[in-house]
Amino acid sequence: MDMQSSPTAAPASTLCIDGARLWQSLMDLARIGGTPKGGVCRLALTELDRQGRDLFVQWAREAGCSIRVDAIGNIFARRAGQDEALPPVMTGSHIDTQPTGGKFDGNYGVLAGLEVVRTLNAAGIRTRAPIEVAVWTNEEGSRFVPVMMGSGVFAGAFTLEHALAQRDAQGVSVGEALAAIGYAGESGPAHAVGAYFEAHIEQGPVLEKHQRVIGVVQAALGQRWYDVTVQGMEAHAGPTPMELRRDALLAASRIVAEVNRIAVERMPHARGTVGSLEVFPNSRNVIPGRVKFSVDLRAPDDAQLQDMDAALRAACARIAAECQVQAEVEQVVYFPPQPFTPHLVQAVRAGAAELGYSSMDAVSGAGHDAVYVARVAPAAMIFVPCADGISHNEIEDAEPAHLEAGCNVLLRAMLAQAEIAA
Ligand SMILES: [Zn+2]
Repeated sequence: MDMQSSPTAAPASTLCIDGARLWQSLMDLARIGGTPKGGVCRLALTELDRQGRDLFVQWAREAGCSIRVDAIGNIFARRAGQDEALPPVMTGSHIDTQPTGGKFDGNYGVLAGLEVVRTLNAAGIRTRAPIEVAVWTNEEGSRFVPVMMGSGVFAGAFTLEHALAQRDAQGVSVGEALAAIGYAGESGPAHAVGAYFEAHIEQGPVLEKHQRVIGVVQAALGQRWYDVTVQGMEAHAGPTPMELRRDALLAASRIVAEVNRIAVERMPHARGTVGSLEVFPNSRNVIPGRVKFSVDLRAPDDAQLQDMDAALRAACARIAAECQVQAEVEQVVYFPPQPFTPHLVQAVRAGAAELGYSSMDAVSGAGHDAVYVARVAPAAMIFVPCADGISHNEIEDAEPAHLEAGCNVLLRAMLAQAEIAA
C-alpha cells in the first residue's frame, strides 16, 4: 500500500506517540482470549474480559492514572489536570469482542488513549483539563443485548436497571456477571465530559479504496430495523398453475430487490440490507406460504431515513397487491442519525493536516460508543483503515503505521481541547 502514513511526516518539533509501544500493547492485550486463527474471543463480562480489564487497569495505574468504575462496569482511568474542576477530555472504546473477533476493534481506541497518557507522561506535559480513558462495557452486544450497553447507560439511552437485568443465553444477568468479575462499581450520575474522541478501525473498505490514512468522521448513520412478514398461501408446486398462486417468497424476493434499489438510489451514504430470511414451510415442492425477513435501512440524516421508510412501505404494499399476498412491516429498532460536534470534527481534520497525513471525510455506518456519548457531550471519531475493510472476523488486521497515525491525531486533538498547562 502506498499510503502517506510515515510518522516522519510529522515535523520534528511535534510531540508524537510511540507507535511500537502502542503496537506491543495491542498484541499483549490480544493474547487474552487469543484464538488459533489470530483473532480474539473475549466476550463481555467473562473471566477473559476480567483479565483484559485487569491488564488495562494495571497499565493505567502504572501510568499514574486513578481508576473509577461505575455501576455498569465502565472503567474511567484519569490523568489529573492542572484544573481539576474542568470536565475531562475523554477518549476510549471497548475491549469486549465478538466470538470470532479481531485484535483491533475497540481495543485500538482504548489503547490509543493509554498511549496518549504515556506520551504525555514521557514528555512531562501537564494539561489544564484532566484526561480520561474510558473502557465501555459490552459494546458488542454478543453475549448481552443491547449493544453499546455501558455507553448507553452513561448517556441515558436506557436505564441502569434495564441493563443490569439483561440475561445471556445461560440465564446469567449483567448484574450477576459484573459482580462475578469484580467490576460492579459505584452508582451515581454520569460525570460531565468536556470533549470525547474515539479512535477506531473503519470496519469498512472506503479509506483503503481511496488510499487515505485518516477518516474524519462527520456523523453516524441513523438506522431503522424491521421485521417484514409476507403471508401468502401454501399450495402444491405441481397442480397449482402460475396465475393462481399466492407465493410469499416471490413477493419477498421482489421486496429484497426493492430494499437494494432504495439504498442505491441514495448513494453514497444510504444502506439497505436484507440479512435474514425464513421461508415456511421451506419445502422443495410447496409454494411458500409465509416468509419472514429482516430489513436494515441506514442513512446520514433523518429526512432521508424517513423517505426510505416510506419507500419501503410503499414497495411492500404495491408488491403485496401484485402478488396477492399480505405484507406486514414492523419497525423493531430505531437509532437516530448522530452528527458529531463540528469543532471537534474540525480538530481531527486539522490534526491530520498538520501532521501531514492524508485524510477524507467519512461517515460511520456502524454503531460505536461515541454515538451514545455524543448525546451528552461534544464528540468526534477518528477512523483508520483496516485490511480489506474486514472486522468482526479473526483475520481483522491493520497497519502499525496507520494505527500510529490515528493515535497521533488523537493526541493532537485531545491536547487542543485539554490545553497544555502554563
Ligand atoms: Zn468497536
